[in-house]
Amino acid sequence: MKLHQLTNRIWYTEHDSTTDRPTLGYIMGDRRSVMLDAGNSGAHGELFLEAVRRAGLPRPELVCISHSHWDHTFGMASLGLPAIASEKTNALLLQMACWGWSEREMAKRLETGEESAFCDTHIRLEYPDLSRIQVRGADIMFQDRLTLELGNCPLELWEGVSPHADDCTLMLADGVLFLGDAYCSVPVGDDWVYDKDLLEKHIHMVEETDFRLCLKGHHAPQTKEELLAELKAELEKIK
Ligand SMILES: [Zn+2]
Repeated sequence: MKLHQLTNRIWYTEHDSTTDRPTLGYIMGDRRSVMLDAGNSGAHGELFLEAVRRAGLPRPELVCISHSHWDHTFGMASLGLPAIASEKTNALLLQMACWGWSEREMAKRLETGEESAFCDTHIRLEYPDLSRIQVRGADIMFQDRLTLELGNCPLELWEGVSPHADDCTLMLADGVLFLGDAYCSVPVGDDWVYDKDLLEKHIHMVEETDFRLCLKGHHAPQTKEELLAELKAELEKIK
């Protein structure tokens, strides 16, 4: 896994669709560094920390979580880093921490719609041994907004509107917006679908946010203009 440098202070590792591993971010302030999203397993998180070590960068002291979905959070339990998440995200994590991973329990969640077929498939690919799944809550929770001063590098976190999930935290530092999956649609059967109203509100929020580049959970980085053009084209398809 290679760490790519995006700006003087921001690095990231690429997403990998094989087992649905998302992009993970790294921000280096003068005083401390943080990791953005925890990875979909201990193995994913460990590869990220190894890439940070190999790049000669300081080990992150905290991990900030974009939303509760498994692929962004199941790495939390073994990273050994305090995790920051919104109260909404934390509540969802605590719910998932009670889930069992037997065939019967997984099948039941598919039946009730608590879990999507897409996630079920990829969880099984990432975890040949499902008993290794560990889910835990965050260590530091916030509501609405939070600023972390990393040393001449403020990191802003806020709860934003998203068509993907109602617990999306957006993160902004050094002109880079870390979106997690906030820009994504949701799986409905075999299709990926946008809610029109939420997509409109999300586009408005992106327009109002001052940034130059963005990091996306499951796609390559883009400029603000590229992201907005893409989201507006998606909105046009619904109209
Ligand atoms: Zn997601």
